[in-house]
Amino acid sequence: MALIIQKFGGTSVGTPDKIRNAASRIIQAVNEGNQVAAVVSAMGKTTDDLVRLAGEITARPSKREMDMLLTTGEQITISLLAMALQDAGYEAESLTGWQAGVETEDVHGNARILNIDTKRIQQMLADGKIAVVAGFQGLTSSDNIATLGRGGSDTTAVALAAALRAEKCEIYTDVTGVFTTDPRVVKHARKLPSISYDEMLEMANLGAGVLHPRAVEFAKNFGVRLEVRSSTEKENGTLVEEEATMENNLVVRGLAFEGNVTKITIEDLPNGLNTLSSVFSLLAENGVNVDIIIQSVNKQERTNISFSIETAILDETIELLERYKSSLQFGSIQHEDGLAKVSIVGSGMISNPGVAAQMFKALSDQDIMIKMVSTSEIKVSTVVDQQDMIKAIETLHDVFELDARQPVQQL
Ligand code: ADP
Ligand code: ASP
Ligand code: MG
Repeated sequence: MALIIQKFGGTSVGTPDKIRNAASRIIQAVNEGNQVAAVVSAMGKTTDDLVRLAGEITARPSKREMDMLLTTGEQITISLLAMALQDAGYEAESLTGWQAGVETEDVHGNARILNIDTKRIQQMLADGKIAVVAGFQGLTSSDNIATLGRGGSDTTAVALAAALRAEKCEIYTDVTGVFTTDPRVVKHARKLPSISYDEMLEMANLGAGVLHPRAVEFAKNFGVRLEVRSSTEKENGTLVEEEATMENNLVVRGLAFEGNVTKITIEDLPNGLNTLSSVFSLLAENGVNVDIIIQSVNKQERTNISFSIETAILDETIELLERYKSSLQFGSIQHEDGLAKVSIVGSGMISNPGVAAQMFKALSDQDIMIKMVSTSEIKVSTVVDQQDMIKAIETLHDVFELDARQPVQQL
């Protein structure tokens, strides 16, 4: 008997009918002779609504209480889904993250899963019950409730699949799979039959919200077979696996993008051996997540450093740097917001040195100014004006022939 983990995202459990639809997916797998543990998110936009609600009480809610609040969303869904399964004549029980044995780091808002004690779920499955587990939540070593970061229910599902050595982890969502880029933005984006763990990890880290990056990390590290598919359409989804079995010769497999990027430039710093390390240690120690970094030498003894951050943390970042102005010995800070990051991803880039140049040319042909660049073996990211973001994505989608209407690009 195979064990399957099925995860249903917010829109897939957004109404009572959709919860019944999720139940029927689970029942189908059970009737085919499988054991099933389901992981669910909060209904529809419940998490956003709860965030807003907290904002009506205070502008600075404590992270601990925020976690306490947000985890209620998933708790509603698990009980309703278990009821739907019971109503259809199946034995099911709902479990919060802590009842399911999800142990996390001792931080709030973005905790990593450290371990899952699967005893209780295993007993339930052995007793012929369907386990319905709340995603996105766990318990810290100090017995506090923690959340895993927005979109974190994917990670609960994949971590559970790894801990239970499940045959497969199915992520049911509101699109039919992983596309060349967000199909809500580029209408002719093409569904990928498969994508490698590494490419998916880059896509997720670079803004493709269809999977939580840590879910992909878990899947890669533990070899979990992962499929992203629709909760309403029957068609096959996208397999995330070690090596994509099809379309291996695609140079660029997908595009990812995210808005709300700000570039900060610290001007007139001493051009010493320790400059970079002092600036970025300070930022890291204070939890400032820095993305792209550029250092330019303009005079012999002085230098400028630019880096990008999420616009949401602009004020606290500038405040922090200003506080350390005298020890860092810089002249001034400039910033530019209203930016976006647009990235191309594909493992075929390793052996194709011209890909970055092709990307830059395509953007400059459209008069899109590139403000920052960062590359790895399998991606090139550019920072552009947010108002150019959609044009950049559409242009690159065409230039790299990712279009559903075109034949697959060959090397
Ligand atoms: P869920 O609530 O099921 O977790 P999410 O909203 O987190 O759903 O993820 C699904 C969404 O991800 C899609 O509706 C789509 O807009 C977005 N998305 C972004 N990039 C991609 C991509 N490359 N392929 C498919 N969907 C993508
Ligand atoms: N409900 C959480 C969120 O909206 C977790 C998830 O959906 O994965 O971020
Ligand atoms: Mg999600």
